[in-house]
Amino acid sequence: MLEPHTLTDLQTPPHVITRGEGVRVWDAEGRSYLDGVAGLWCVTLGYSEPRLVRAATEQMAKLPFYGSFNHRTNDVALALADDLARVAPIPMGRTFFANSGSEANDSAVKFAWYYHQSLGRHHRTKILSHHRGYHGTTTAAGSATGLAHVHHGFGIPLPQFLRLHCPDPLSSCAHGLTEEQFVDWLVRRLEDLIADEGPDTIAAFIAEPILGAGGLIIPPAGYYHRVQEVLARHDILFIADEVITGFGRTGSLFATTEFDLRPDMITLAKGLSSAYLPISAVMVGERVCAALAEGAQRFHAFGHGFTYSGHPVAAAVARETLAIVRERDIPGHVRATAPTLANALDKFRGADLVRDVRAYGLLGAVEFDPAAAGLGPGQLGPRLLDAAADHGLLLRAMGDTVVFAPPLISTPAEIETMVERLADAHEQVLTEHRAGQGTRER
Ligand code: PLP
Repeated sequence: MLEPHTLTDLQTPPHVITRGEGVRVWDAEGRSYLDGVAGLWCVTLGYSEPRLVRAATEQMAKLPFYGSFNHRTNDVALALADDLARVAPIPMGRTFFANSGSEANDSAVKFAWYYHQSLGRHHRTKILSHHRGYHGTTTAAGSATGLAHVHHGFGIPLPQFLRLHCPDPLSSCAHGLTEEQFVDWLVRRLEDLIADEGPDTIAAFIAEPILGAGGLIIPPAGYYHRVQEVLARHDILFIADEVITGFGRTGSLFATTEFDLRPDMITLAKGLSSAYLPISAVMVGERVCAALAEGAQRFHAFGHGFTYSGHPVAAAVARETLAIVRERDIPGHVRATAPTLANALDKFRGADLVRDVRAYGLLGAVEFDPAAAGLGPGQLGPRLLDAAADHGLLLRAMGDTVVFAPPLISTPAEIETMVERLADAHEQVLTEHRAGQGTRER
């Protein structure tokens, strides 16, 4: 996703990356960086996994393409669907393949609409999502995304997309409340919204177990349990967007298991192929599958799919990725390594210009406070990114929150070095600020 500041900065040439190895990348100038965000939260197995290259090459030679349209498919897509069914966190009916997280989420929203239409509930068209949730940029996924810069100038969100409060324990709504009271408050707002809109107008709720691009927001304990109870009572489908959290990021293969969720659909991308090739998936629960099949009889069609759905080369890479994730117990490695990230980031607590520190699995964030530096919202994050790059570390900033999502194969030593480099960047920004020179624009 283009960050807002890059959108207004089309004059500056982009930073060009030309090579990668392990958790490191090199740019066109030959400078090397530790990649603290695994590309875009996605290169889970690092940049030089020979087995993925081999899987792609062999499949390319055997069958470079056959799609999944008109009751025809390819053997690799079928095998990948079986692989996913075997590891699915809850019993799933079938898997639909697409090419990006946005396409997967657009598809899941359409499946929710089709599900209700199949059952004759023609008024169930509204989709709920979180303010600051990120689900992609295509028309429906972008409408579900709760970040204004994704909407500006594009005429989205579409009107039937409704927003829930962000379950951010640091938000002003949570001020002075215990975690439990904050959950009560959020659930009451959800109940109120459903009552105001009418439960029979709402098709689905789509949410990330941990909100990524909204600034790494870890919802309060028990939040999704309470939400699921409300959704189930009103027959509103729950779509878990596991595009970031899927395949080990939280320390479980799926965050659905980690947080004991019961979604009707799970969307996956990024770590599905360690980003070596574009592929995404919607795992569809049995109840929804049955209704879709009934609907297909009734409407004499299920007119959804993409030319590259289940592309055999991408599917072969995804199969090999999943095999590696399981053989090397990547979720176990994440559980073992997560304390290193959390402890290293803890050193930022209470430091100058720091508002909060968060970590879960191999996700971490330092939220900086631009006001403390006399800057406006969103002005400090990009400075830290630039300074981090100067120190040989690539990160992402969501506003003023700097996020870590390193490759899941990162060693404790690599993670410590990444965080040390952020500490150096922080020191540099502090020095500039103290010297009154902190006005450099990105
Ligand atoms: N969902 C989540 C949680 C994401 O983080 C992203 C991308 O970062 C998407 C969906 C969209 O994925 P894509 O950029 O592949 O369309």
